[in-house]
Amino acid sequence: MNHISDYIQSRKSRHPGEPFNAFIYDLGELKRNAARIVASLPAGAKYFYAIKANSDKKMIETLLPIVDGFEVASLGEAEKVREISGSADIIFGGPGKTDVEIENALRLRVSLLHVESISELHRTNWIADRLGMKANILLRVNLRGPLPSGTLQMCGVPSQFGIDEADIPQAIEITGSCPNVSLRGFHFHSLSNQLDAPQHAAMVGHYVERARKWQTQYGFDLRYVNAGGGIGINYEKLEATFDWDTFVRLLGHIIEKEPEGNARCPEILFECGRYTAASCGYYAAEVLDIKKIGDSSFAVINGGLHQFLLPGAWKHRHPFFIVPVDGWLYPLSRIEINDQPVTIVGRMNSPRDILARNENVARLRIGDVVVFPYAGAYGWSISAHDFSSLEHPEFLYMS
Ligand SMILES: *Cc1c(COP(=O)(O)O)cnc(C)c1O
Repeated sequence: MNHISDYIQSRKSRHPGEPFNAFIYDLGELKRNAARIVASLPAGAKYFYAIKANSDKKMIETLLPIVDGFEVASLGEAEKVREISGSADIIFGGPGKTDVEIENALRLRVSLLHVESISELHRTNWIADRLGMKANILLRVNLRGPLPSGTLQMCGVPSQFGIDEADIPQAIEITGSCPNVSLRGFHFHSLSNQLDAPQHAAMVGHYVERARKWQTQYGFDLRYVNAGGGIGINYEKLEATFDWDTFVRLLGHIIEKEPEGNARCPEILFECGRYTAASCGYYAAEVLDIKKIGDSSFAVINGGLHQFLLPGAWKHRHPFFIVPVDGWLYPLSRIEINDQPVTIVGRMNSPRDILARNENVARLRIGDVVVFPYAGAYGWSISAHDFSSLEHPEFLYMS
């Protein structure tokens, strides 16, 4: 984190009158993280970046030569990728696709379309027919189970995604009478922020087994099992991260397992957003005011949940650190607090605009900068940043 502190301090000394507020993306860290992940995968697995976690153009450009492609959840996201690369592999999903989206996804030559319902399957075939094209599809499966023990709590609740597992046989049969779609496999994305590597591997093993069972029953060319994203970041306990090395070792066993008959093991795809991008981002905002209300101290920062909703959305304790800024422009005394708990709040005029609650700080002064690391995924992208017409932060990049 020292490089971030140095960077902020040097910017503050060059622009002392501007109250700091920025997302800082460390593209070097993004590159290293993605390269580490991709290099560690066994043969037979591919890694896509789910750009809804953060569709910043420079981040997509940085990842382009490293990952196997991009997962997009809208036409807008597909266009963002195509602006940067005419040929990158794109996989396109989402539970409510319009005709225009399906049509333009095909025109943009996406590699795979995730079909999320039987009516969407018919509609995709109809649109591809009108365009004189053939759509490569994965059927998105909404799993019912039985699931491997220990993984049940992650699924099992009916959701709007994909096709009910019980209806998959019917969907497979329908693809047989749809000349403009080619069934290439299945898409499973049934959890988010998974922190347990053996459980995640057991789930992926279950996906592959389910897919092979359907292949055996219905006989089609099973090329891909998309195991989705969902690999997590332990924000509250960064040292206890997802054990990636264990995960890829177990994944190797899944891929090596001889399939029955002569069927070749399908390629396993991953489409991770959070795990790819979280570590490269820092959300930073200067302290505008410090006050005491009753027994509580509040620090108001030049930002808030409208820019960085993540701690509010997940209701977790997000880590932060303080960058001391020594310059002080006013002929007035500078308020500071020492060795005591403080609640860090934003400018949103909402009592919910709390980024950290009663956290102990050694020293915090008006004019210091509070920095939240692990802000590279689901930071800016999920936040209501036009609320109250508050200013947008700067976007700064380190290489
Ligand atoms: C959001 C999403 C992802 C990425 O999820 P992460 O938890 O960020 O890895 C992958 N696939 C689908 C279908 C998604 O909706």
